[in-house]
Amino acid sequence: MHAQERMRQSRIPFSQRLFWSVFFIFLGFTACVFVFQYQREVDFSREKLNSVLSSYNYQLHYRVQHNSDINAVVQEFVKEIPEHGLRVTIITPTGEVLFDNTNSGIIDNHNNRSEVLKARQMMNAFAIRSSETDGLEYFYSANNIEGYIYRCAIPYSPFIKSTLKVNQEFIYFMALMLLIFFIVLSRYTFSIGQTIAKLKYFSQNVPKNPEKEIEFNFPNDELGDIAQHIIKLYRRQQKAKNELALEREKLIKHFQYSKEGFAMFTEEGVEILSNIQLIQFANVLSNNAVHSAEEVLDIPELDPIRTFLAEKTQTARVKALRQTATINKSGKTFLVECLLFQNNSYEISISDITRQEEEYQMKRQLTQNIAHELKTPVSSIQGYLETLIYNHLSDDKRKFFIERCYSQCQRLTDLLKDISLLNRLEGAADMFELTDVNLNQLLSEIEKECAQQMDAKGITSEVHLPANAMIHGNESLLYSIFRNLYDNTIAYAGENVHINVNCYKEDNKYYYFSFSDNGAGIPEEHINRIFERFYRVDKGRSRKAGGTGLGLSIVKNSVLFHRGQISAKSTPGQGVTFLFTLKKKI
Ligand code: ADP
Repeated sequence: MHAQERMRQSRIPFSQRLFWSVFFIFLGFTACVFVFQYQREVDFSREKLNSVLSSYNYQLHYRVQHNSDINAVVQEFVKEIPEHGLRVTIITPTGEVLFDNTNSGIIDNHNNRSEVLKARQMMNAFAIRSSETDGLEYFYSANNIEGYIYRCAIPYSPFIKSTLKVNQEFIYFMALMLLIFFIVLSRYTFSIGQTIAKLKYFSQNVPKNPEKEIEFNFPNDELGDIAQHIIKLYRRQQKAKNELALEREKLIKHFQYSKEGFAMFTEEGVEILSNIQLIQFANVLSNNAVHSAEEVLDIPELDPIRTFLAEKTQTARVKALRQTATINKSGKTFLVECLLFQNNSYEISISDITRQEEEYQMKRQLTQNIAHELKTPVSSIQGYLETLIYNHLSDDKRKFFIERCYSQCQRLTDLLKDISLLNRLEGAADMFELTDVNLNQLLSEIEKECAQQMDAKGITSEVHLPANAMIHGNESLLYSIFRNLYDNTIAYAGENVHINVNCYKEDNKYYYFSFSDNGAGIPEEHINRIFERFYRVDKGRSRKAGGTGLGLSIVKNSVLFHRGQISAKSTPGQGVTFLFTLKKKI
């Protein structure tokens, strides 16, 4: 056991210290009052006796005035009074004893007696002392009457002593007060002691076992309220601490599993927290090996971040709180971000934005493509209209140009329709209505609709579907899939071609289709890109055929909408086969 611990255990509890210190203060105070009061009582009793003896002095003087036989006067007087053994002395102004009823042979000068001395000055005085004459103890009371000292004294016997004693009741009263105070104080300090003991128990045990809910009943007073409040504050603080720890834990977990590289630093650049991803990204970015988060800032490409952090220390006011740098390395694009906090601590994050960057580029490409696709029909229409406005044309030619205008408008409409369909498929797929679609019916409708064009090119088709093949999906998208494939064969496969639509497999969830023709086919190098938007194998031919370059893109997205997959294979000269699946119920 520690010496400090031993000391703590051996010390007197606070409540006891409080009790004893207050008690001793009160005791001291009581003692002072007692002594003072005692003295007053003693003085009062003596004054009382003195005044009795003083009255005797005056009476004796009066009697001596009227009777010259002092001895007879005194003897008679002594008999009259209740006190026994009264000694009467008359002293002349020069100090000689004129009369003394106890010893007539006194010769020494009495002016040096203390009561006589005082009486000469103050007219009356008393003293308790031993008689120099007979050696006995007396209570003397002396009066200066016309220069003569009349002095009555009674023996200071035990009886007189007892009458001069302090009133016993006063002592009992003081003792009782002390007792009452003792009880009240002990009760009060006991209650304080209990509250403190509970608080002590709380402070020692609750932090060790914070989960355990301990109920404390404190007394209904201010101290109790304070104790309750302390406990409430402690529990609130504990709760906040736990929640904070939990949040911190979550944050650390989040950083550990984050795809982003992340590190936090103090104002001095000392690492507080970092994840592995940061080191990995830093090593991709750096030509030298990076071992710790603190080395990340040594990468030369992070110059803007370094300058930004240097500025923060140079100037009191920081202009920006965030600085970024985009770095291309090893075919990847990284975004490095530095966030500066109020206390000048900062965090650095590195994220791989290659995909976003690609998507952004793709979107840009797409917008350019759309603009390009729109430009062709719009400028054609403009040209035709200019020709019509500024030239005098024959009716036939006018009709020709107006028809070309119309067909370009049709092209524009188709293009916008396809773009909007693709946008809806990508952005608002849940807007498509779902119904039960009968595929047999759907395909026979398409066959009917395409019959004229197919006949014109000598194209034939056969469809093999299970009887009553049903899909719970979107009818118009399912129509788009097959219609676009039919249209493409009609447009690009050539003449006298045969189309074979086959549902070659079916399971609980999916239908497996093949759509093939034996036409021109698609060259190897293009086959992987035919599903891209605006991708055409032969641009001129596609435009001439009225294609928007979006047909197969719509097919692919419609298949994906129906939770299926699509791929194409082709042997140039021998045709194309599209293999795709469609989920029976989406
Ligand atoms: P388009 O709107 O030009 O038809 P698609 O996305 O539908 O665009 O088709 C992309 C390209 O694939 C077409 O330009 C065409 O060259 C080629 N293609 C599609 N289907 C066939 C097919 N059955 N036979 C040959 N080529 C095809």
